[in-house]
Amino acid sequence: MSRGAVAIMEAPDMKALRLQKIGSLSLTEAEKPLPRPDELLVRIEACGICGTDRHLFKGEFPSKPPVTIGHEFAGIVEAVGGEVEHFKPGVRVTGDPNIFCGRCPECHRGRVHLCRNLIAIGIHRNGGFAQYVALPQKQAVELPLTLAPLWGAFCEPLACCLHGVDLADIKAGASAIVIGGGVIGMLVVQLARLAGAAKVVLVTRNADKRKLAEGLGATATLDPTPGDVIGRIAGPGGLLPGGADVVFECAGLKETVEEAPRLAAPGGVAMILGVLPKGERVEIEPYDLLVREVRIMTSFINPFTHRRAADLIASGTIAVEPLISRTVGLGEAIEVISRPAPRGEIRALVLPNG
Ligand SMILES: [Zn+2]
Ligand SMILES: [Zn+2]
Repeated sequence: MSRGAVAIMEAPDMKALRLQKIGSLSLTEAEKPLPRPDELLVRIEACGICGTDRHLFKGEFPSKPPVTIGHEFAGIVEAVGGEVEHFKPGVRVTGDPNIFCGRCPECHRGRVHLCRNLIAIGIHRNGGFAQYVALPQKQAVELPLTLAPLWGAFCEPLACCLHGVDLADIKAGASAIVIGGGVIGMLVVQLARLAGAAKVVLVTRNADKRKLAEGLGATATLDPTPGDVIGRIAGPGGLLPGGADVVFECAGLKETVEEAPRLAAPGGVAMILGVLPKGERVEIEPYDLLVREVRIMTSFINPFTHRRAADLIASGTIAVEPLISRTVGLGEAIEVISRPAPRGEIRALVLPNG
């Protein structure tokens, strides 16, 4: 047992979903983690299945197998290491999975999310698709025990969206377009309204998602199926003639990344939040960007936004309940991660402890 860890009496084993190698996920018996002196042992209540998990499975996003994946988790602290001061067993926490080193040139410049030695829980070290996870105390943010137990799993994706919305610098009264009706799109619609956008248009093929987005604050929605998305939104007589101040690409597709700058108004921003497979290329017209001074921006993970995300969820300011499409056990999660998300699904959550 590691120094400073509180004694754990139960059987040392637990179930965990291991990425053994690219393309191979299995449900295994793993040793229950022993928290190091500065760590919490967290009993997972819910862990979200994210597009990144599917990319990890397919080898489209670098990882370090064998590893237990799952980076969008929350749960109850069961034990604490000997040096932990501010958390006690029994409290609920959400984990910020991204651990920066604090000593590389990027960290020293304050760009901690670009840390050269970044270690992500659920990618480089064992994560939340397991009954328990070891969480360094500096990565933990407390959530109220009165909160619905599944909501904490949305803190991580919301924190990533917050960083993107912060960078896009939406002004009160601005207009926004959100491409993609998955969890990122649904959270960005809400954040864009909260940041002051007066008009928010959500683009998605799925009619149920369009309806949901309208309930969450989208002022209009569009089905891209008939084609000419740019004309129907940014053209004369479109939903937002001239385009939007900020376009959020939340679908992670080549064609929508190409569409995003063309939907931006002159002087506007195309913010890419979707994750494309490593190596994928897109076609952009620099002349169009130049003469309309459209900026293409990207937003990577969640620097210093995790606590705000937790506060937005704890206070009920951002709705997450309608984003839960289904809950599955650890065994079923293999099937869910190894296939594309079914049409209409927003977020599947894994409940490793039933
Ligand atoms: Zn994620
Ligand atoms: Zn660093």
